[in-house]
Amino acid sequence: MPERTCIGCRAVKDKAGLARLAVVDGGLELDGKWRLPGRGAYICRDEQCVRAAYKRKDCFAKALKRAVTLPEEKELRELIIKQ
Ligand SMILES: [Zn+2]
Repeated sequence: MPERTCIGCRAVKDKAGLARLAVVDGGLELDGKWRLPGRGAYICRDEQCVRAAYKRKDCFAKALKRAVTLPEEKELRELIIKQ
């Protein structure tokens, strides 16, 4: 199983424990099926990690290697944790 690093806690985890985020039309989207093209940013499905990532917002752009418009923190949190 490939491993990825969470942008929130920086832990390296199995893909299965992480949500993949990708850029669609300049905005950040949840890639629920891990199918969107381009680089992805990976994050644990954990409130703490979302909070940590939003504290250093540039971690999204760094992981994705491009500028990205972020949704509200609450919106992203609900998106990745609800599933
Ligand atoms: Zn994490």
